[in-house]
Amino acid sequence: MKRILYLIVATLLMVTFMGGCSAEGESPKETTEAEKTTVQEQTEKQTTEKITEKETEPESITDENGNEVTTLAPKAKLDRTPVNCDHIDPSKPMIALTFDDGPSANTGRLLNILERNGARATFFVVGKYIKGNEALLQKMVANGNELASHTWSHANLSTSSDEVIISELADTRAAIKKATGVDAPLARPPYGAHNENVKNIAASQGISLIMWSLDTRDWESRNATAVYSKTMSNVRNGDIILCHDLHKTTVDAMESVIPSLIQSGYQLVTVSELLTYGREELTCGEVYFRR
Ligand SMILES: [Zn+2]
Repeated sequence: MKRILYLIVATLLMVTFMGGCSAEGESPKETTEAEKTTVQEQTEKQTTEKITEKETEPESITDENGNEVTTLAPKAKLDRTPVNCDHIDPSKPMIALTFDDGPSANTGRLLNILERNGARATFFVVGKYIKGNEALLQKMVANGNELASHTWSHANLSTSSDEVIISELADTRAAIKKATGVDAPLARPPYGAHNENVKNIAASQGISLIMWSLDTRDWESRNATAVYSKTMSNVRNGDIILCHDLHKTTVDAMESVIPSLIQSGYQLVTVSELLTYGREELTCGEVYFRR
């Protein structure tokens, strides 16, 4: 009797054990295998889709002026001619003077000051002011200065719709290209106002965003002496200096600021030169403050 009982218990235990394996072990394993295949298929499908996306890029968008705008993949490297930095002396400190809100009636005089001193600067121009000032822009380029975008209408991009951000950036870049033949993949958002959305749209257009590390507050003081002391007492190697060629007082200040900076040993280079000299290309959608 004991032997029969033992056999029954043993059989029951075996069935339970095998059933357990079947219910909790093998089936999920099969599911996992199936899932694996599905995940693999999905990954392959996604990869194929990615490649297809890549192949169809760059996408073409037509802006409100009917200009064809090319967008690049987010976080792509800027596709442009490498910056010629042959004139840069690696033993000397360097800074980038930047001028926003022009071109204006004062820009021509500023260009002459820069030229006289063998200096370069970067001009963040407002798109709607380009028409009629094409010769000024061409002179900027001819003298080794850099042209960049400050949007079409000086819009606050952080509070603008996607459509507005896209056209503000794209239209200005297209107008610079039309006036000078030069591509301008750098932009400075007015008021420095930017957020993740602005960065993403800039990335999709192959644009890097440029801020500053030294604010001359020239728009506030409107005083050449104040601009001079603010600049000369705060300047450091690698600075991007914010000025506005819209104001006569700023250009007045540059008559002494530029020679003084050079006398202090600084080389005045463009933003692209400052940020890329001896370094990697800039990244689209990134925000840069200084070297
Ligand atoms: Zn501005």
